[in-house]
Amino acid sequence: MARYRGSVCRLCRRETQKLYLKGDRCYSDKCAVERRAYPPGQHGQGRGKLSDYGLQLREKQKVKRMYGLAENQFRLTYKRATRVRGVTGHNLLMLLEIRLDNVVYRLGFAGSRAQARHWVRHGHFTLNGKKVNVPSLKVRVGDVVAVREKSREIAQLKQAMEAVARRQIPAWLEADPGNFQGTIKALPAREELTMPMQEQLIVELYSR
Ligand code: SF4
Repeated sequence: MARYRGSVCRLCRRETQKLYLKGDRCYSDKCAVERRAYPPGQHGQGRGKLSDYGLQLREKQKVKRMYGLAENQFRLTYKRATRVRGVTGHNLLMLLEIRLDNVVYRLGFAGSRAQARHWVRHGHFTLNGKKVNVPSLKVRVGDVVAVREKSREIAQLKQAMEAVARRQIPAWLEADPGNFQGTIKALPAREELTMPMQEQLIVELYSR
């Protein structure tokens, strides 16, 4: 599967919004969006008003990039969201939030979702006591995500856990950093997802 290998800050600048893709740097004054809050490229500052389609496309790209998914993974998640009872947009965001890599990031065991995915893939985490290495696994209420015992000495992991004080652990998760674990208390409600996201635009885009 094709993977984006360019500058991730460029992705934030394209959306003119912080997507928090780079861990610690995102909270510092080195953040590219803080310095140049306009799209990258020669015509970055000269872009005109977006059409309805443009707005929908940008919203989809923003959410997709924030969660670090490729187009086909994102579309599959959307399809799954349409099959779940309830509002499709909310279902989509909920399915993205309960991915194992996102939960690891939200619990503060990684500085970014990309780092969380990398560590999950390398088998540094357990789910209900069993080693897992699939970042797209969906967690359930009552599940316990923990750092494997032999992975607890990773310096970057410790750093990430120290830096997590800057982020708030969402109410639907319960972190127990002393024991290197966290529990899923509930499924995330829409109002708990505080990043600015207009999921309705994504639904409109895929319904075209
Ligand atoms: Fe985005 Fe973080 Fe780069 Fe800022 S530092 S532009 S938030 S990835």
